[in-house]
Amino acid sequence: MLIVQKYGGTSLADAQRIGNAAGRAVELARQGNQVVVVVSAQGDTTDLLIEKALQINRQGAAREMDAYLAAGEQMSAGLMAMAIGAMGYPAVSMTGWQAGIATDGVHGNARIVNVDTCRIRQELDGGKIVVVAGFQGLDPEGDITTLGRGGSDTTAVALAGYLHADKCQIFTDVDGVYDRDPRLYSDAVRFGRIGYEKMLGLIENGAQVLHDRSVELAREFGIPLEVLSAFTGEPGTIVG
Ligand code: ADP
Ligand code: ASP
Ligand code: MG
Repeated sequence: MLIVQKYGGTSLADAQRIGNAAGRAVELARQGNQVVVVVSAQGDTTDLLIEKALQINRQGAAREMDAYLAAGEQMSAGLMAMAIGAMGYPAVSMTGWQAGIATDGVHGNARIVNVDTCRIRQELDGGKIVVVAGFQGLDPEGDITTLGRGGSDTTAVALAGYLHADKCQIFTDVDGVYDRDPRLYSDAVRFGRIGYEKMLGLIENGAQVLHDRSVELAREFGIPLEVLSAFTGEPGTIVG
């Protein structure tokens, strides 16, 4: 099977959590699967980077902001590939553009328009786990773009779609999708399964558990997403 796994910032916040995620990817690969791991920036890295930029220029050019913010995910990708390597499994990290992700030119909120999967395929066929930096791509001018806050989910779904993956798993810091934010409402109810439309409705009402564009893309490709806890790995919610 070809499996795409995405890990969010909290799920990669320290060396131990990166190790947990790496271990899960290695286990799947050792079972004979091809594995692509999409990573977000660690913890609140993106918030901290934005804060720092605002201290320097309150209206920094959107192009430069993207070039700068994309670094958060690149650092995670390098660390994840090294963590996998430390477990004795070959891995290669890639930026969004090395992974062939082409977007439109809307800096700060770009849409993925194509993925050239050639390099990823080559590395998977060479027996490696491929680690891709989420949240980023390259526009027609050859400039770095970012996909909007939470956009690493969309990177994962786009890769799963263009690679015809068998599974797309979104690992996060809650154990699935609930009818309300489970961090704010202790009586929130978890869905075993939820349709794309209902999921988009929840997002419209503020549920940031998935990037809206990731659900739209999953619907276009007809790919079910699994949202599950990076900490337990127990079955979560199937979206779609
Ligand atoms: P990640 O860093 O893994 O991408 P996010 O912070 O983007 O994680 O999304 C996970 C968070 O979404 C949870 O910690 C939770 O507080 C919040 N959330 C909001 N609404 C919901 C919901 N309806 N179901 C599940 N989680 C939700
Ligand atoms: N790091 C980016 C953000 O914080 C993208 C993501 O986490 O999906 O919005
Ligand atoms: Mg998110």
